[in-house]
Amino acid sequence: MLGYRHGFHAGHWSDVFKHAILVQLLRALLRKDKPFFVLDTHAGAGLYDLDSPQARKTGQWREGIGRLWGQTGLSPALADYLAQVQSFNGDKLGRYPGSPRLIRQLMRQQDRLALTELHPGEFPHLKQEFAADSQVMVHRRDGYEALKALLPPPIRRGLVLIDPAYEGGGEFDRLVEGLSVIHRRWPQAAVAVWYPILERGPSARFLSRVAKLQVGEALCAELGLHPYDSVLGINGCGMMLVNPPWQLDAALEPLLPELLERLRSGARGTIRLEWLTCNR
Ligand code: SAM
Repeated sequence: MLGYRHGFHAGHWSDVFKHAILVQLLRALLRKDKPFFVLDTHAGAGLYDLDSPQARKTGQWREGIGRLWGQTGLSPALADYLAQVQSFNGDKLGRYPGSPRLIRQLMRQQDRLALTELHPGEFPHLKQEFAADSQVMVHRRDGYEALKALLPPPIRRGLVLIDPAYEGGGEFDRLVEGLSVIHRRWPQAAVAVWYPILERGPSARFLSRVAKLQVGEALCAELGLHPYDSVLGINGCGMMLVNPPWQLDAALEPLLPELLERLRSGARGTIRLEWLTCNR
C-alpha cells in the first residue's frame, strides 16, 4: 500500500524534530575529514513546494517550520537547522528540503549518498532532483530490500536513515528485521529510525524489542506535543538512534526542550532522551 505522500506533511513539526536531529548527526560525521556514506531508505521527493495543492490542503508546515521561521535567539543547533532550510529560500518561506536535500547540502566532495524510494509518484521527482549529481545514487526500490542490496557500502563510516510512512501495519516488525540486517552487514553504522507516537503502546513495544536485539547502543529521543491519549492523530514522535556518534546525546539535551518550547501550541508537552542500552 503506497498512499502516503510526504508533500502533505513536509515541514510539519515532526519533520522539524526529525531534520534538526539529522543535521546534528551529519555535523558529527563532518567532524572528521574521512568520507562518509548515508543511505536514506525512505527518501520521499527530496524538495517540497509549500505552495503546492498538497501543502496548502493541510497547511501542516505552519505548525512546524512556520513557527520557527524568522525566529531569533535560537540555540546553535536549532539555528544550524534553520539556516539549512533558509538556504533553499529567499526572505519568504516557500520551499522545504526533505532529508535527501538536507543530507546533500552538508556533504563534501568525498561523501556519498544513496536514496531509495518506492512510490511511483514520488520517485520521478527525487530522480530529477539529483539527475546530474554523481555523488548521489537514486534507486526505485524497497528501502528494506536496499539494506541487503546496498550494504555494506564501500565507505565504512556513515549513517542509515529509516523514515517509513507507517501505512498498513507491520512497520515495526520490518524495522526490527531491518536493524538486524544492518547490524550483520554494517555493524559500525549509525542508524536513525523515525517513529510516530499516536498512543504510547506500539512505539514503546518497538523500543523494548530494540533494546533486546543487541545491535548496538541505542538512544531514544522523543517529542510529544499532545497528550498520548489524545485522539488528534500524531501526538508525538521519536528518533531511535543506534550507535549514535559520540556526544550526540549532549547535543540533543538542550535541543529537545527548545523544540518543545518553540513548537508547542498548548501548555502541555513532553520530551524524552534516554539510553535504552549503553556501554559508555
Ligand atoms: N525521509 C523523507 C524526508 O525526511 O524528507 C520523508 C519520507 S516519507 C515519511 C516516507 C516515504 O517512504 C514516502 O515517500 C513513501 O512513498 C516511501 N515508502 C513507503 N514504503 C517504502 C518502501 N518500502 N521502500 C521505500 N520507500 C517507501
